Amino acid sequence: MQTSKKKKVLFAASEVYPFAKSGGLADVASSLPKALAKEFEISVILPFYGGIDVEKYHIVPLQLSYTINMNQKNYEASLYGCSYAGITYYFVKSPCISEKEYFYGPPDQGYEDNAQRFTLFCRVIVELLKEDQAYSILHLNDWQTAVAALLVKEDKSIQTKTIYTIHNLAYQGIFNRSTLQEIGLSDHYFNMDALEFYGNISLMKAGIAYADSITTVSSEYAKEIQTKTFGCGLDGFLRHHQHKLQGILNGIDAEVFAPETDPFLVQHYSSENWKKKRENKKAYLKSSGLNGIHKPLFIFIGRFTWQKGIDLLIEVLDETADLNINIAILGEGETVYHQKLEKIASQRRHIHLFFGYKEELSHQMYAAGDFLLMPSMFEPCGLNQMIAMRYGTVPIVHRVGGLKESVHPLEEFDPKSKKGFGIGFNESEAEALLQAIKVSASLFETSQYKKVSKHNMNCDFSWSSSAKKYAKLYHDLEQ
Ligand code: ADP
Repeated sequence: MQTSKKKKVLFAASEVYPFAKSGGLADVASSLPKALAKEFEISVILPFYGGIDVEKYHIVPLQLSYTINMNQKNYEASLYGCSYAGITYYFVKSPCISEKEYFYGPPDQGYEDNAQRFTLFCRVIVELLKEDQAYSILHLNDWQTAVAALLVKEDKSIQTKTIYTIHNLAYQGIFNRSTLQEIGLSDHYFNMDALEFYGNISLMKAGIAYADSITTVSSEYAKEIQTKTFGCGLDGFLRHHQHKLQGILNGIDAEVFAPETDPFLVQHYSSENWKKKRENKKAYLKSSGLNGIHKPLFIFIGRFTWQKGIDLLIEVLDETADLNINIAILGEGETVYHQKLEKIASQRRHIHLFFGYKEELSHQMYAAGDFLLMPSMFEPCGLNQMIAMRYGTVPIVHRVGGLKESVHPLEEFDPKSKKGFGIGFNESEAEALLQAIKVSASLFETSQYKKVSKHNMNCDFSWSSSAKKYAKLYHDLEQ
């Protein structure tokens, strides 16, 4: 039997790499527990989506099943598990979670029963805590897990402390009032101090109101979400709870995102043999049909939504035709953006477009690119810019949230500093983005470009410092 003096932590998220990933949350839910595993006995729990590869990860049933009653309806759920990269993973299987094609719903919409699906997930988490009282900490992430904070707080038999991390305030889990009953919660939670949100309910509020501690993914974003501009209607509520709110910058998994060893690359490289990065560019240009190894290659990887600044990008694409550059875009999202991008790319030979979610291709693009475009309207943390810097691809960012915190202005470039540098712009306008692209194209012609690219590759974007802050929080909360 395994004995351990380490504190037990249960980390819950709606997606976790490599099992299920649609964005940065999955990266964090994989890399942060890994970074904390030396100090804590940490397990991770996620929904068992249909597409998860059972055989590849040796996922087995754990002979634990639950009948969860919500609104006089019984939901059957069972627990599966596996061990991967030294971490124990639990998967919650239930027909409403597992027998669907997407995690959250098809593009442009969420499943109608998402509140029930994710509350079921939360209720199974709470059952687990009741069965094993040894868990000191339950770390929850985003609205899909927020109800667990409320359930734990209201169940006096559970001593576990809860942390709720906001990865993106714009996705709150907003449902109509009658949903409260459907997820088995009393109508007394329909008030301003609990879940009520302008006549509807916001499940995000359950995490904010009931968790013992709240974090978000950068200090800048922690400040921003308390303002009307970035508060998504919750700025006042967050100011009310600010005594338990702090920003901790995300890190990236230094083992997964490593140009020295990345299995997806055609050529490994480091800052010492920086020239070899070019082999990846060559290979990418060949496969994408773009021309001109000497032209700077700008890449964009991400969800096609307003948040990611895709409108600005679309607005400038035509004008980049005269700049002697190439642009490669990988992503998926709202249909309207697909259509606009497809139209422009079909007319412009310097643009290559790939629709879809492709982990392998994204790594190849980080390695091939000279610059990363990240014109986000808001950005809680952002991982792309950190990954890009590790791969020597210089980021071009709108200075907001985590982008402002992790990409320092090139004008302040100091080779002795440990910070990453890039090109930034302050106004969320197409003209500002275009100007930044022009500045970058000029920088590419100078020896300064190589210095910055190599410098960024040697910076530490891993969890080494931020994981310590989470560790402190776990210890402080328990006292
Ligand atoms: P988000 O707001 O989408 O979570 P982040 O910057 O925090 O954005 O993290 C995005 C993560 O998802 C990065 O690992 C990025 O490389 C990856 N990613 C985004 N879109 C795609 C895609 N279409 N194909 C492959 N990887 C993607």
